[in-house]
Amino acid sequence: MAVQHDASLMEKIVSLCKRRGFIFPSSEIYGGLNGVWDYGPLGAELKRNLKDHWWRSMTQLRDDVVGMDGAILMNRAVWKASGHEKTFSDPLVDCKTCKGRFREDQLDTSQCKMKPSKTPRTCGGELSPPRQFNLMLKTTIGAMEDDSNATYLRPETAQAIFVQFKSVLEVARKKIPFGIAQIGKAFRNEINPRNYTFRSREFEQMELEFFVKPGTGQEWLEYWKEERIKWYTEIGIPREKIHVHEVPDKDRAFYSQGTYDLEYAFPFGVQELEGVAYRTDYDLKQHQEHSGKSLEYFDEETKQKYIPHVVEPSAGVDRTVLALLCEAYREEEVPDEKGKQETRIVMRFSPRIAPVKVGVFPLLKNKPELVKKTGEVANLLRPHMAIFYDESGAIGRRYRRQDEVGTPFGVTIDFETLEGPQKETVTLRHRDSMKQERIPIAGLVTRLSAAIR
Ligand code: ATP
Repeated sequence: MAVQHDASLMEKIVSLCKRRGFIFPSSEIYGGLNGVWDYGPLGAELKRNLKDHWWRSMTQLRDDVVGMDGAILMNRAVWKASGHEKTFSDPLVDCKTCKGRFREDQLDTSQCKMKPSKTPRTCGGELSPPRQFNLMLKTTIGAMEDDSNATYLRPETAQAIFVQFKSVLEVARKKIPFGIAQIGKAFRNEINPRNYTFRSREFEQMELEFFVKPGTGQEWLEYWKEERIKWYTEIGIPREKIHVHEVPDKDRAFYSQGTYDLEYAFPFGVQELEGVAYRTDYDLKQHQEHSGKSLEYFDEETKQKYIPHVVEPSAGVDRTVLALLCEAYREEEVPDEKGKQETRIVMRFSPRIAPVKVGVFPLLKNKPELVKKTGEVANLLRPHMAIFYDESGAIGRRYRRQDEVGTPFGVTIDFETLEGPQKETVTLRHRDSMKQERIPIAGLVTRLSAAIR
């Protein structure tokens, strides 16, 4: 599918994210830190809802996956055994003219620092030969800052799962096929962080290592590819926006016997959200060899011992959040309160992952009886979902402010709530259709809880 690169759409999304508190540049008052981002109040909620949904789908709803939460710091021997210390690198080239640094494999999509409309090759600048640049961020542990105390901030969460495979297997009492799921921070010293949060130096991953019998890896690879596509549609990314790229032999990690990249059509191009890889028995074998500890599995039924093979769906939290932001953003022409056409910005998040589920409003703020009743309704809803109480400005403006952050429902308390035939009812307003209906307060929790599940 041809994708239009829409720079102005990206600019609008970045501006909304800052204005409304989804995402801020890290250390902003000191000029920021390239490739590092902070999530504000709404971004933190969105991210948490996304991770909760992944965790629930992977662990709670399945019998064959358990979770774990490994440390970011690990013994350096892990990174030697996994091959990261030697080979987790990108080819770096320097431009002798503009002093820019680029990934050699991304030259065609990079910008010359002096002539931004050109790429580093077409600008006429002289490029150095490529050299391998290791992406792991090094740190030292303890008081001595020498190399013997060095280790790395993990560049992926997977290795903690591999090295704890035996311990988890014993305590979880699972039989193969089974998986271990984990969500956590990962760090990569990317040569060129770009496209907002898409390529960051600190980010979060949601990874599953699924252990299978040798000979069944290909089937499980297909299974997990399909499962993961389904999952994206559950959080509001339409199937047609997900591209499945079968990674050719020459581009795959040498140990992989099959990889699918699940990609999303971002405004800056079709790019990877998640890799689903058949990693064979490479990682467990490496750790068994380097640690001298057996990582074999004993199959009770066949009485065979073997090193399991692994299929890994590895997703990025930040990239998925960015895809959700891009997918949700809409500008719509709608009538304002006086019937005049105006543009409303609305984030059409699926109610399941929307940061705030319901805005709660007294019709007027200077009527104590309305404010009091609204407080009661807010307290009724609060234990069940994230709400936002807002009493300032005209009601239409308050609806618009919630539209802009993607709140799927609004509940307004007015004079009819207090007395008359409609007593104890409220107006329920729907974000997408902007339709309003009258519903009893007594039915609110059940109705809204079902809609956001
Ligand atoms: P890319 O080719 O884009 O650098 P990758 O193939 O190296 O990605 P993996 O090692 O497969 O990525 O990591 C799994 C997932 O982790 C990716 O699909 C992505 O969602 C996320 N991820 C990897 N690197 C970054 C990064 N620098 N910033 C944000 N997310 C990342």
